[in-house]
Amino acid sequence: MDVMPPRTADVAGLEVRRSLPQRSRRTVGPWCFVDHFGPTAPDDGYRMTVGPHPHIGLSTVTWILEGEAVHTDSVGSEQTIRPGQLNLMTAGHGIAHAEETPVGREGRLHGVQFWVAQPEATRHGAGAFEHHGELPEVGTGVLRATVLVGSLFDATSPARADSPMVGADLRIGAGLVELPLDPAFEHAVVPLDGAIRVGGTAVARDALVHLPPGPSSVELESTDAGRALLVGGEPFEAPVLMWWNFVARTRDEIDRATADWNAGSDRFGAVASGLARIPAPATPWGG
Ligand code: MN
Repeated sequence: MDVMPPRTADVAGLEVRRSLPQRSRRTVGPWCFVDHFGPTAPDDGYRMTVGPHPHIGLSTVTWILEGEAVHTDSVGSEQTIRPGQLNLMTAGHGIAHAEETPVGREGRLHGVQFWVAQPEATRHGAGAFEHHGELPEVGTGVLRATVLVGSLFDATSPARADSPMVGADLRIGAGLVELPLDPAFEHAVVPLDGAIRVGGTAVARDALVHLPPGPSSVELESTDAGRALLVGGEPFEAPVLMWWNFVARTRDEIDRATADWNAGSDRFGAVASGLARIPAPATPWGG
């Protein structure tokens, strides 16, 4: 069991704690990015405005804890997301989207955005978008879990999964619970709230606890009402190269996506948003 602290970053004026990737751990199963953003103060009038930007080779999984956001993308979706709902956008060869706070809903915003790397079998395919208004709730003892992707206990999420994986939002009441794990998966637990112990070790909020494949369960303990994320999957098929909003295998693939987006190529389609397009910055390797 390996415990790694998060980094903090600023995304669109919002403080985020980034638990994944880590320098020494790029992926957990296919999961390659875990960003916990907010909560913003309810009265600070925060308004998220993230203009059209591209993605390749990944699915974005958006899970809102408080507040609302509107997602608009180049496959024709316009979707408001609220707490308890999941947006899952799959980029494949190329997609673009914008995210913003609906007018009149400024203020409190709190949530998580995950990225899932796509396997070779689907990463060159078409872009797609799913919204799930309801997800399975499962639990035992002091644990109540929402299954975001994959299966936990006897429940399976309706969300798309391109490779074997699990993602869940865990609420843990005061006490101790044995969380079942798939022994073929590696997993990570990320505490979001409360004082949580994983396998007997106290773990700070937003730290990433990596659990290698093997065990069929892990003990979680909370001294109060706690909340944590679970992600996992079969160790990913290949090392991924992540840069800006792209997940690929080679620099050449990223150079091409950067050039295509900045040239306004129809590879990424058009987003019906009044916000300005975000240009791709130059790659650090100067491609
Ligand atoms: Mn995005």
